[in-house]
Amino acid sequence: LSDRLTAALQTLTRKGKLSDADIDATAREIRIALLEADVALGVVKTFIARIKERAKGAEVSQALNPAQQVIKIVNEELVGILGGETRRLNLAKTPPTVIMLAGLQGAGKTTLAGKLAMWLKKQGHAPMLVACDLQRPNAVTQLQVVGERAGVVTFAPEPGNGVGDPVDVARRAIAEAKHAQHDVVVVDTAGRLGVDEELMKQAADIRDAVNPDEVLFVVDAMIGQDAVTTAEAFRDGVGFSGVVLTKLDGDARGGAALSVREVTGQPILFASNGEKLEDFDTFHPDRMASRILGMGDVLTLIEQAEQAFDQKQAEKAAEKLSSGQLTLEDFLEQMLAVRKMGPIGNLLGMLPGAGQMKDQLAQVDDKHLDKLQAIIRGMTPAEREDPKMINGSRRLRIANGSGVTVREVNDLVNRFFEARKMMAQMAGRFGFGGGGGSKS
Ligand code: GDP
Ligand code: MG
Repeated sequence: LSDRLTAALQTLTRKGKLSDADIDATAREIRIALLEADVALGVVKTFIARIKERAKGAEVSQALNPAQQVIKIVNEELVGILGGETRRLNLAKTPPTVIMLAGLQGAGKTTLAGKLAMWLKKQGHAPMLVACDLQRPNAVTQLQVVGERAGVVTFAPEPGNGVGDPVDVARRAIAEAKHAQHDVVVVDTAGRLGVDEELMKQAADIRDAVNPDEVLFVVDAMIGQDAVTTAEAFRDGVGFSGVVLTKLDGDARGGAALSVREVTGQPILFASNGEKLEDFDTFHPDRMASRILGMGDVLTLIEQAEQAFDQKQAEKAAEKLSSGQLTLEDFLEQMLAVRKMGPIGNLLGMLPGAGQMKDQLAQVDDKHLDKLQAIIRGMTPAEREDPKMINGSRRLRIANGSGVTVREVNDLVNRFFEARKMMAQMAGRFGFGGGGGSKS
């Protein structure tokens, strides 16, 4: 697929303004990418329509070609839909917080119960697991095993009592949790291979008995397009407040994430990516967006193009520099560009051999740069373009305006002239700038 996209990128290269044809061409590729990621068709349609709308209103970027620009918009939109920042788990004001798990059989609920328990424990909670899947013979034992692995207590019906009533177990479990001071209760429930009425009713009854703070719909990422009908069935049958995607370690592209999110509007809170208890994390919308698009390399390309654009501006400045025409405006721009990368001390510290220069580096601190910036900003545009015009009275005005002494203004201006001269000489000697150098 990436090959096809790269080809699309090339045909669309450098056409200037974002035209409808450009947008349509890229939208077609995006549509295929989403369908290949198993996003439900209806969801793809509304998504593409929204993207086209946004792309039409977008300003033309100087750094990116139209196709890249559309893909950038698509990626931003996807990240936004998938949740922007991750929502945190709702905790009850008066413990215990009750988290109920719902989903088809094999979705990964029981495994998730163990993962959640371990994760909660790490955050300082005292969770308790509750076995309300009394449908399958080993379901209870399976939960007890993951509970033991996570090092938490599991509440289960006493063995030998025949098939217990899951609603009754749930109710007793909450009482026990209060008594034993567990602050979070995770309720595992039964699932069937397909959506079924009886199962839904049972889940709803458990829900009414435990009054959960969160109902998490657990869904296998491999389920693909079926995610929509399954999610709708659970939304209508039990209702849920959050989603957990499982089996992301498989090769599914994760279209289910977008489908479920679009159809139910509920946020995705966690992602499971393996059978072990540690294979679990909060959900990261940006990673998922990239996975769904399957365009990791294209997204990297876009990032690089934007950086290269900055690079071009830097080259222009270098040219000016070698011809001795550098202005204080250029100087300020360069300084701001460098500072975007982080605290200046850190940047210098990354230079090879910088370790031995610790003392000198300590003097190049951000406060000093703040001051330089303030001085240059206190100048008029004309003064920045032609620093020679900065005479005594102008220096006094600049000093007063930027809250520094006249001496500090003198210092800056004099050092600027020295540096400009020196750099022009060096540039002449090493032959960079002035059109001589080649760069691809
Ligand atoms: P439940 O029926 O919803 O309780 O599902 P289980 O927790 O019993 O999981 C069903 C199967 O999927 C088990 O074999 C789990 O080991 C496996 N499983 C669960 N979560 C994941 C996951 O994130 N990745 C992988 N590869 N397997 C998983
Ligand atoms: Mg289970």
